[in-house]
Amino acid sequence: MSQLDEILAFNQQFVKNKAYVPYEAGGRPVKKMTIVTCMDCRLIELLPKALNIKNGDAIMLKCAGGMIESPYSSTMKSILVSLYELGSEAVYVIGHTNCGMHGLESAKMIQDIKNRGIDDDAFSAVREQGVDPYEWLGGFQSVDDQVQKSVSIVKNHPLLPEETPVYGLVIDPKTGELRLAK
Ligand SMILES: [Zn+2]
Repeated sequence: MSQLDEILAFNQQFVKNKAYVPYEAGGRPVKKMTIVTCMDCRLIELLPKALNIKNGDAIMLKCAGGMIESPYSSTMKSILVSLYELGSEAVYVIGHTNCGMHGLESAKMIQDIKNRGIDDDAFSAVREQGVDPYEWLGGFQSVDDQVQKSVSIVKNHPLLPEETPVYGLVIDPKTGELRLAK
């Protein structure tokens, strides 16, 4: 049985047994908060548990490193949607220690891509779109600096509702311990 088949079989039982009932919620975040964090698989359950967030409490946005890299990225658009259309009133940017984006050099990632058989023509196609792969594919050197940078992009966005609190935090992906970004 393939992984997809297993998922579909499990899902049929999940619905049939009404296992969804404990998770029923409205589409607007009860705690009026938006979280931007890393896609790291250790944070799937740990982060909400460590912050006492349940289904329906918060808007959760995830990407590599929780990095908000541009005021016009899809992440920033999602933040604005959460604030204007979904009733969120505060933004929490949460990086984490031991992140895969910490120290990730774009040169290494580009080499890894090439090792998988993607050739220079593909990189030329990326450059033709005005994107420098060496700038685009890198990580960060300091989680605190990266969180502060992301917070600053949100805070300085011309379309951010006035007085929106934007907090920068760092979580430990083992213990769930949360601290303010330095
Ligand atoms: Zn991460």
